[in-house]
Amino acid sequence: MNFLRRFMAGRNGTDQLSLAILIVSIILNVVSGMIRIAIISSIVYSLAAAILIIGIFRILSRNIERRRAENAVFMRHWNKVRNYVRRQADKLRQSKTFRFFKCPACKNNLRVPKGKGKIYVTCPRCGERFIKKT
Ligand SMILES: [Zn+2]
Repeated sequence: MNFLRRFMAGRNGTDQLSLAILIVSIILNVVSGMIRIAIISSIVYSLAAAILIIGIFRILSRNIERRRAENAVFMRHWNKVRNYVRRQADKLRQSKTFRFFKCPACKNNLRVPKGKGKIYVTCPRCGERFIKKT
């Protein structure tokens, strides 16, 4: 392990982006094995190999500042995706007791309890009032 530690000194090492790249590469590798059409299979396999090389390059890179900046951009986008998925999962979980819709004026996401009949809704953001069946 000492050799590895010395070898990796001053290098970027694994970050979230490299991990994501390696995972995508593995997935593409598996997918390429399932594709029956030889030419498409080998294109996907080559893509998996190219992505793997990029991932390894990032891990071994000595330009840590640049790699950190790339990782930060990746994490910003990744967090957006993760938050969206979490919001949708929350909606699904609460869909038995709440109704979700957008404010017709400002498009703000709103939530009201289900089964209250027709109610007046006041948007907390823009103050728009409208009738909604719950
Ligand atoms: Zn509104």
